Amino acid sequence: MDDIRKRHQDTQCVHASTLHDPSGAVVTPIYQTSTFSFRDVDHGAALFAGKEKGYIYTRMANPTIEALEETVAVLEKGYRGLACGSGMAAIHTTFASMLRTGDHVVCSDSVYGPTNTLLSGVMSRFGIESTMVDSSDLKAVEHAIKPNTKMIYIETPGNPTLVVSDIEAISEIAHGHGARVVVDNTFMSPILQQPLTLGADIVVHSMTKYLNGHADVVAGVIVVKTEEDYKAFRQILNQIGGVITPFNSFLVARGIKTLAVRIERQCRSAEAVARFLENHDKIQEVYFPWFPSHPQHELARRQMKGPGGVVSFELKGGMKGGKTLMNSVRLCTLAVSLGGVETLIEHPASMTHAVMGAEARRKANISDGLVRIAVGIESVDDLIADIAHGLDKVSV
Ligand SMILES: *Cc1c(COP(=O)(O)O)cnc(C)c1O
Repeated sequence: MDDIRKRHQDTQCVHASTLHDPSGAVVTPIYQTSTFSFRDVDHGAALFAGKEKGYIYTRMANPTIEALEETVAVLEKGYRGLACGSGMAAIHTTFASMLRTGDHVVCSDSVYGPTNTLLSGVMSRFGIESTMVDSSDLKAVEHAIKPNTKMIYIETPGNPTLVVSDIEAISEIAHGHGARVVVDNTFMSPILQQPLTLGADIVVHSMTKYLNGHADVVAGVIVVKTEEDYKAFRQILNQIGGVITPFNSFLVARGIKTLAVRIERQCRSAEAVARFLENHDKIQEVYFPWFPSHPQHELARRQMKGPGGVVSFELKGGMKGGKTLMNSVRLCTLAVSLGGVETLIEHPASMTHAVMGAEARRKANISDGLVRIAVGIESVDDLIADIAHGLDKVSV
């Protein structure tokens, strides 16, 4: 479609992935092929030299993958996208493209667990150091910057208390110190937050979550702002090889067609669930960026177009209460992840973070009564009834 970049996001979701396939296919077909034939020797040589546009090998480029990359780039108002085999592959490719031995990274301390481990593990082994800070505190961010700081990596809202970091202010601070800003925008999707328009340099997503939205694919994407970055990142992605498959690209592009509609519903339902929890006598605290009780409530309202679909809360019944709630809900599914059409519920202390032990959990601010709900698109009345039934079984 002409000028898709000038249209509204709802329209972009539906149409941006449409390739103008010679067959007239309305939906971009799955080019399930590893390699592409050359017409003759000169054609192959011209493709390799970049003198002619075309496809060579699917790790380098593939039409189905490109259609998805273009869609996310349009939605994020970026230059181009690079789709990856998982969110972590996108994050690793970003680090490998932007950092070298001796560099330093300032990173949100509430960042996704494996991102934290990637920095303290593999990246540290390659001589890249990092400092974890509460990135909602601008002074702490600036204080953590060193002469060799090349990247400020933030995730906002952060897990599990949905702490919000100021993308615009952090970008200003970073650029003043010659560092660049990467934002993990997974929790918001481009519908609710567009970090590149706020000054960030790079956006990454786990497309496993809202972008795909159906809990049936693991995938990631990087969106860059400039051609220079695009070329550098593409070369690294091609070398590391963490690419997405054409079939998964097709599924994610299909998921994105309903992204705006899903997000609208999920925001509305999450707010209703959060309000129900806020008024429930077995709940000590609700973490929800849209409520005035949230510490960065004003920033959230300014930076985000909606609260997102995740609600976290502190249950008064602690570990036992959390386990009881998990075992009593019938509609909410006990599982990690978020952003799908089905509502997922998670109790870190007895599930994902159980192996850490109580002491490490306390240090990481994961209390025994903490529960996270990633709200889906079911009837919100059914969801609230299910949670209410579960809470009835909890003794405080
Ligand atoms: C899930 C997730 C990731 C990792 O993505 P995968 O697709 O599981 O590799 C990164 N960041 C955030 C915020 C996530 O929720």
